[in-house]
Amino acid sequence: MASIRKLLTLLGGLTTTALFLPMSACAGPNVTPRVKPTLSQAVAAPAPRRAPIVTEPRYFKNSVPHPRLAPHINGAIDQSEFSRKPVIFIDPGHGGRDPGAIGVKGTYEKEITTKASNSLKALLERTGRYDVRMTRDRDVYVDHDLRLRVAREGGADLFISLHADSAGTRSARGASVYTLADRAKGRSKKLVSSSQNWIVDVDLSKQSDPVGDILVDLAQRKTESQSEQFADILLSELSGSTELVGNSHRRAGYFVLLAPDVPAVLLELGFLSNPQDETLLLQSSHRDKMMRSVVSSIDRYFAEER
Ligand SMILES: [Zn+2]
Repeated sequence: MASIRKLLTLLGGLTTTALFLPMSACAGPNVTPRVKPTLSQAVAAPAPRRAPIVTEPRYFKNSVPHPRLAPHINGAIDQSEFSRKPVIFIDPGHGGRDPGAIGVKGTYEKEITTKASNSLKALLERTGRYDVRMTRDRDVYVDHDLRLRVAREGGADLFISLHADSAGTRSARGASVYTLADRAKGRSKKLVSSSQNWIVDVDLSKQSDPVGDILVDLAQRKTESQSEQFADILLSELSGSTELVGNSHRRAGYFVLLAPDVPAVLLELGFLSNPQDETLLLQSSHRDKMMRSVVSSIDRYFAEER
């Protein structure tokens, strides 16, 4: 959630101060970290004020303990976080020089993902409840790294990557949903601390920084539980609009699922290697039906979150 990102930003900025506190002050739920005023503010303010205790944002359930937010130095709380619409990022798989899978009748996966994504965007916008963005809106190649970057920088609350599957056998058919596999979590963490430095909120250039490690762990745990929750809702809604493969909730280490603080799923709409699925995916009525199920899932997810 953006809330976690905000927490990371706030606490990431306070890392230097927090390092001087005992560890319990960083990890314990009942201790509010204190913030030293800057020199200019110390001069401007005649008497230092006691920092107000900030109540937890209502997004957070109590399932994951997390440090309390420290207020900004001027005591102001950014209310925009509480009033803005959830930001949904739709990621149409492949594009440009990368056609993705090619169907038995020659259908390119990128064409299906683009059409389905455009339909989903229109349906979501029609609700008026979401701020909807896309990682690409034309038939262009977009690097996976860039897809994640724009989603994070755009404040994504939910990231949905759309794809169409392909298998060695023609008999495999149906939709499936992927979330991040356990084995890929180390890779996700590595991304944060790598020299690419594409995640700017937390400075993990010091590998031994225990505060940074705790923050990333917290963000990852919260993100994982939100992604799993959304995947379950999505599959239950999709079961009413399309065939699902057996074992339809799957885990993988796909790059677009790696952001440690953006709940993300990858939806395989069906198999282009199956003639029936390919025919259905070419029909706008079928794609729209599936996308209406995705909209219902998003509605349910945010209703349960709050
Ligand atoms: Zn694909």
